[in-house]
Amino acid sequence: MTTWAVIVAAGSGDRLAADRPKAFARLGDRPLLAESLERLDRSDWIDGIVVVCPEGWEEPAILLAEELGASKVAQAVTGGASRAESVRLGVNEVPPDAVALLVHDAARPLLAGDVISRVLEPLGEGWDGSVPALSVADTIKRVEGEEVAETLARDGLMVVQTPQAFVADVLRAALAGDVVEATDCASLVEAHGGRVKVVEGDPLLMKVTTPQDLAVVEALLAEARAA
Ligand code: C5P
Repeated sequence: MTTWAVIVAAGSGDRLAADRPKAFARLGDRPLLAESLERLDRSDWIDGIVVVCPEGWEEPAILLAEELGASKVAQAVTGGASRAESVRLGVNEVPPDAVALLVHDAARPLLAGDVISRVLEPLGEGWDGSVPALSVADTIKRVEGEEVAETLARDGLMVVQTPQAFVADVLRAALAGDVVEATDCASLVEAHGGRVKVVEGDPLLMKVTTPQDLAVVEALLAEARAA
């Protein structure tokens, strides 16, 4: 059974206000992408990796993989206008004999090995996919304009992260249709009737969106390295 990872790194990251795309923004002395790339490359669960990049950043991604000794990186391809389009373009480059696919946001650098195994294990138990999730700690309200329209019951609401894992053929089929609106891969698989298991997420797997997030992740990394 071969398992491939697709790292989506083609977002512009406008809210980060860096002079380069988010995945290549500096996190300490390395680009943000280096963290998840290295961690997936070192994982025994992963056989090959495709990186999806902004146009013009494919070569820097390959050079980064070489620098890191990330020998599982097979390709760096240009992404699309939305995350889901980028996933589709990445998955297109995965060899047809891959039976499991793991899709990860480069914007979530602090990827621990146990999260990778947690999302992949359910695929061997008959699930179509699996996502890491955290309970919601805050009260969630639906808002219209500047007015609260409704307060949602918190029971059963979860915040979903990446990496998300799927039976390869199930994800390929889900990506074949209209994907523009999807903000994650699991929603496409759910819409196709797929059964997606929820496993325990990781609070450290936060998504870098703003310069403040980058500073928090940098501090967490420095702390981990010093330990
Ligand atoms: O923009 P956001 O942070 O939600 O993006 C999540 C992930 O999807 C990021 O790693 C980003 O690089 C990737 N992405 C992509 N192609 C796009 C938009 C986002 O690969 N067109």
